Amino acid sequence: MLFNYFCPACGKVIPSDKPVWRCECGGYLDLDYMPVLDRSKLPDEKSMWRYSQVLPLEKINPDLLFGEGFTPLLPMKFWGIDVLGKLDYLMPSGSFKDRGAALMIHKCHEMGIKEIVEDSSGNSACAVAAYCARAGIKANIYMPAGNSSAKSIQARAYGAQIHLIPGSRTDCADAALEGAKKSYYAAHAYNPFFLHGTKTVIYEIAEQMNWQVPDYYFTPVGSGSQLLGVYLGLKEMLNAGIIDRMPRLMAVQSNHCAPLKDFAEGRPLCNPVSQSIAEGIAIARPVRLNQIIAAVRETGGDIVTVDDTEIVEALKLSFGQGFYIEPTSAAAFAALKQYSGKIKTGEKVVVSLTGHGLKASSKIESLL
Ligand SMILES: *Cc1c(COP(=O)(O)O)cnc(C)c1O
Ligand SMILES: [Zn+2]
Repeated sequence: MLFNYFCPACGKVIPSDKPVWRCECGGYLDLDYMPVLDRSKLPDEKSMWRYSQVLPLEKINPDLLFGEGFTPLLPMKFWGIDVLGKLDYLMPSGSFKDRGAALMIHKCHEMGIKEIVEDSSGNSACAVAAYCARAGIKANIYMPAGNSSAKSIQARAYGAQIHLIPGSRTDCADAALEGAKKSYYAAHAYNPFFLHGTKTVIYEIAEQMNWQVPDYYFTPVGSGSQLLGVYLGLKEMLNAGIIDRMPRLMAVQSNHCAPLKDFAEGRPLCNPVSQSIAEGIAIARPVRLNQIIAAVRETGGDIVTVDDTEIVEALKLSFGQGFYIEPTSAAAFAALKQYSGKIKTGEKVVVSLTGHGLKASSKIESLL
């Protein structure tokens, strides 16, 4: 079972057993893979590996797993709107990125890769470091100096080598590229295995809703790995005849850094420096920007931008219901407020709770 990578920009096809991380033309790679889930063959397993039928791995190595996924989907209420919150902050390293890292690092392990490089502002660093620790792979993580220290501490605790890079995210990406000359660049924004991991969230949600999908799906977007994973899973379920329509994919960004909005409205993209409290989505140049916009448009979704004050309000409403998420995660709830007049009664709204509040204690302390 060998899948090919293909480059949507130039059409080049590359076998996925080659340790490439992007196309020669510089573009990101996708996988030529459209699996069909047979619901009558689902195992008893209550984790994301329940959907291993639709995961592009040779075979699943149980020694690399944490029993992750199948997170709860619970009712919450914001500004009078009933929503279902998907509790992905309960994943092993505290964010949904574990889904992506699980697949990507599994694939690295399958290829016999012993050392990787990742460039991350925090949660993907934690996720990649956790899975590398489990798989016995050395992780080199490049982080912009000055991000939430809890995240760099967590990644370091797992045994990753942390390289703190002063300057912008772009400087950090450049430093990671330099470091990757000696090992494999497991770049979560480029790597399609990451997306095939994050897509499990929508399979879970569909099954938790009796194989229905919601009318709206709100998620904070930085590189787009959650939104694009959800889109991928929806495409597969549509193709398999499991569902017959797509929810509106609602991409939420901070006003401090909203390249999706800039691009969609024909403005030059924002500057790479941002002071928003939503640090996890401060990605000025998302690699898959055109793909994210296309997914939002195809599903009749929207790009919603929110202010820090709105994020803080939503964060406190979440805490007040017992859900301890980080500020980036609350951006998705903040966006709901702007949409309150547009969502009709009876329409189902799912919001992704992407990251754990314990990672942002000092920031949260200053907000209380
Ligand atoms: C990374 C992250 C996001 C955004 O995910 P992308 O894949 O970058 O779009 C949202 N919330 C949290 C908590 C994150 O860590
Ligand atoms: Zn190419």
